[in-house]
Amino acid sequence: MVRTGTLREQDLVSAGLVEAGRLEEITRVAGKFAVALTADVAALIDPANPADPIAAQFVPSVAELLTAREELPDPIGDARWSPVPGIVHRYPDRVLLKPTLLCPVYCRFCFRREVVGKRPAMLDEPALEVALNYIRRNPEIWEVIVTGGDPFLLAPRRVGAIVRALDRIAHLGVIRFHTRVPLVDPGRVGSALVGALAADKAVYVVVHANHPRELTPRARLALTRLNRAGIPLLSQTVLLRGVNDDAATLEALFRGLVGIRVKPYYLHHADLARGTAHFRTGIADGQRLVRSLRGRVSGLCQPTYVLDIPGGYGKVPIAPCAARPGDSLGGWTVEDSAGGRHSYPADPEG
Ligand code: SF4
Repeated sequence: MVRTGTLREQDLVSAGLVEAGRLEEITRVAGKFAVALTADVAALIDPANPADPIAAQFVPSVAELLTAREELPDPIGDARWSPVPGIVHRYPDRVLLKPTLLCPVYCRFCFRREVVGKRPAMLDEPALEVALNYIRRNPEIWEVIVTGGDPFLLAPRRVGAIVRALDRIAHLGVIRFHTRVPLVDPGRVGSALVGALAADKAVYVVVHANHPRELTPRARLALTRLNRAGIPLLSQTVLLRGVNDDAATLEALFRGLVGIRVKPYYLHHADLARGTAHFRTGIADGQRLVRSLRGRVSGLCQPTYVLDIPGGYGKVPIAPCAARPGDSLGGWTVEDSAGGRHSYPADPEG
């Protein structure tokens, strides 16, 4: 049994999750990138399986010390679009608000791994006010994505203060939280946190889920609590080699999510974060997986496969397109989910 609370690198050996001989190597990794697991995550790991998909996501590996030539410290270019601390304004109608850079777990493939878990970890009150003022001053902003780090790691009192401040901004339509807490630390989703999310505006919660084993009874309960409070739930998944890069695993994950009223929203192609090459699949592999899912599950279970263009140029869908120009003049060839090709007439004139 592992003890409760947060496990750091030195705890992983005593919890039996890492052999003693690897302590030196994981301590070196922890000197570069933050390390933490929750008791809920530790309990999910099968220490007898060297390829355990949960361990792969959270237990540090010496492979993280290798930086591939194409990898970047800020792979999706957050810094370029940050007008004030805690805000990223990449698209005209929405901003990221990052009140904390702390997480309950540190994912070994995180695209913000150079900043999460490091200081300054929190926006203090004056800095938060500057960030909120930026949102107030820019009426084109319609949606605020509260992310981090993990905003559900904040005390419910602070979450509530942020929700209330955003709820009072007339030009906002949507407040969206991105979190891993309901799956990795579900005990935090109690009545105080759920109550803190109450607002007149639409509040959405997007949970990060990568493997069907993460949908534990405790996680299901946490998601049900949010759902019963009327909060629409979506999910995002990172496509990770050795974790979920096969159609059966993705199918089980997406069916599992839909079955507990969570709509799969994004399947992210893994970003070019430093020390994460061992997690990345090729885009062609991702497209093959997405194509095979088309025939296996309903549209409800299919997220959009997306890539954040390195350098901060935004997110684009990269799923294979089923329609391409055909042989006949102006006509189309459309591919069904089994790979069969069909003709479709030319577009109407005008
Ligand atoms: S929870 Fe999100 S922000 Fe935190 S380490 Fe994981 S991917 Fe990164």
